[in-house]
Amino acid sequence: MINFNVPPCAENAMKYIGECVQNQKICGDGAYTKKCNQWIEEKTGTTKCLLTTSCTHATEMAALLANIQPGDEVIMPSYTFVSTADAFVLRGAIPVFVDIRPDTMNIDEKLIEDAITEKTKAIVPVHYAGVGCEMDTIMDIAKRHGLMVIEDAAQGIMATYRGKALGTFGDFGCFSFHETKNYSMGEGGALLIRDESMVEEAEIIREKGTNRTKFIQGKIDKYTWINYGSSYLPSDMNAAYLYAQLEIADQINNARLAIWKRYYETLKPLAEAGKIELPVVPEHCVHNGHMFWLKVTDAKERAAFMDQHLKAKNGVYAVSHYVPLHTAPAGRKFGRFHGEDKYTTKESERLVRLPMYYGLTMEQVDYICDKVKEFF
Ligand SMILES: *Cc1c(COP(=O)(O)O)cnc(C)c1O
Repeated sequence: MINFNVPPCAENAMKYIGECVQNQKICGDGAYTKKCNQWIEEKTGTTKCLLTTSCTHATEMAALLANIQPGDEVIMPSYTFVSTADAFVLRGAIPVFVDIRPDTMNIDEKLIEDAITEKTKAIVPVHYAGVGCEMDTIMDIAKRHGLMVIEDAAQGIMATYRGKALGTFGDFGCFSFHETKNYSMGEGGALLIRDESMVEEAEIIREKGTNRTKFIQGKIDKYTWINYGSSYLPSDMNAAYLYAQLEIADQINNARLAIWKRYYETLKPLAEAGKIELPVVPEHCVHNGHMFWLKVTDAKERAAFMDQHLKAKNGVYAVSHYVPLHTAPAGRKFGRFHGEDKYTTKESERLVRLPMYYGLTMEQVDYICDKVKEFF
């Protein structure tokens, strides 16, 4: 049997977690949280990084910081994970879904402008599979219409668009360190803040609405309740687990890219023969091997290929996603689709994700490719 995902774990994880336990420093914003924040700031070039309890929570923070109000509209793809929309729906906003491009499965940047109304407050591009959305176009639209940009970069750490890190273009960028992502702390994420002027408010919202961060930094001698907020900081034990992986980030990234390349090269003849479609990575995007997907003809062929052939017959756990948000009960209740659903539903029904994780061997990849070829 070949799992779809195995959570990443670096050798030093137990040692670093042990240090937290031994030193009785297990709450938030300890030494490892600081190390992770600093590492991400250096790697991405963002002004400020704040480790959070999830990417969902980072996005909730971004929605609060963007001052999203009931009735505001937020433009995003429907082909994404629920959190992209949820964080804004929690503020009473209306997700306005636009169609995706079939080549990258990212939001179609050419459709965004038409969805803008006087209620539009923000654009939320999702960098699917760690392949950057067309940020030049998106930032230009945002600038001309005075909109905020919040990047759902849950899958985007270590990836770039025109040489610049995903998550650093918009006002805010959100990373995920869930166990299904390239780097993990079990549950966790990070908020990337572009403008220095937003940092203090972000620190207050993350610390239950208090200025405790300033207190810990020794800038004030007692802390107090300043603003609304919540508890968005993770335990330092989780940060310790993550930091062990960040130390070997290139090693993990290279291993994933090697797997991705092996899949791509081996399955290319099938694509050339018109049996399947493979992902497109635009020349100006460097991805991070987060995901390897392929597309079959339709939902019926996918069931026979993925459920019957790969899973039941050969023990290869391939998966599919996402059910388009605008077709889900909550999506119908809270949001609306703008324009024609030309690709979102159709493409979502024929996409298959092959096993992809740090530690998957080339022998396993070759076995999976053999089984894929066998089906076609
Ligand atoms: C994983 C993921 C999320 C949610 O991340 P959590 O850390 O689990 O909250 C949000 N958006 C996208 C696109 C994701 O892939």
